[in-house]
Amino acid sequence: MMTVTEDTHKTYEDHVTKQLELNQEHLNSLTHPGSQVKFDVDPDILPTPDPNLRVFFFDIDNCLYRNSTKIHDLMQISILEYFKNELNLKHEEAEKLNNTYYKQYGLAIRGLVMFHGIDAMQYNRFVDDSLPLQNILKPDLKLREMLINLRNSGKIDKLWLFTNAYKNHGLRCIRLLGVADLFDGITYCDYRQTDTLICKPDERAFEKAKLQSGLGDYKNAWFVDDSGLNIEKGISLGMRKCIHLVENEPNMLLGKTPRHSHVIRHITNLPNVLPELFKH
Ligand SMILES: [Mg+2]
Repeated sequence: MMTVTEDTHKTYEDHVTKQLELNQEHLNSLTHPGSQVKFDVDPDILPTPDPNLRVFFFDIDNCLYRNSTKIHDLMQISILEYFKNELNLKHEEAEKLNNTYYKQYGLAIRGLVMFHGIDAMQYNRFVDDSLPLQNILKPDLKLREMLINLRNSGKIDKLWLFTNAYKNHGLRCIRLLGVADLFDGITYCDYRQTDTLICKPDERAFEKAKLQSGLGDYKNAWFVDDSGLNIEKGISLGMRKCIHLVENEPNMLLGKTPRHSHVIRHITNLPNVLPELFKH
């Protein structure tokens, strides 16, 4: 006979497995414009850094879609469930740990890997991949139109995704939003590299994005993110323009708006602060 704990644990794992299947089925059924990724996700060869290449870096979570979509809340619930079920923590302990790690390491997962021996890929399956994102994220035609205008303006050479999530989650978001065909590549947090999870605002994450995109010089980089800490790093590295997306109140966990950044409330307001990039 199973103990109560084992029983709850099994229910939890069954629930996650079922949701993962549903998510994959839904993803396979997508046919709307922008539902398919056109770029090579993990290219074997890095491009030669080009000093003239102009790259626009886009954060994904709470940036390409509104924070008020509540995906963040859903993710927090999912993280807490994971902490409770896999680490046997009580709700309050789990909450405390999550906040501490998020604040200290930019991602709860970094603390889990460092101090609890958690398998980051398993965590990713249980937390990010199991979110029923399809119930929340729908094709965003306004976002699509803006990105098409940016591509067609001739002012930017590459539109590049730059996320702290693992690739599965990032790609799922852009496919559901119907903009997956409008980017040239993605720099993500590689959960397979368990010894060193490199994520924003760590400078090495920016260096990785620079290398992977072929950017030769930070002064030819534009960057939008909802984290003040990430934006601050972009500014300190000399990126041309950094745009802090603040939908409502500044989130203290994510840091204040740094000096020299532009502020927008929604991603489709980019042309308001960067009109030069949207003119032909
Ligand atoms: Mg974000």
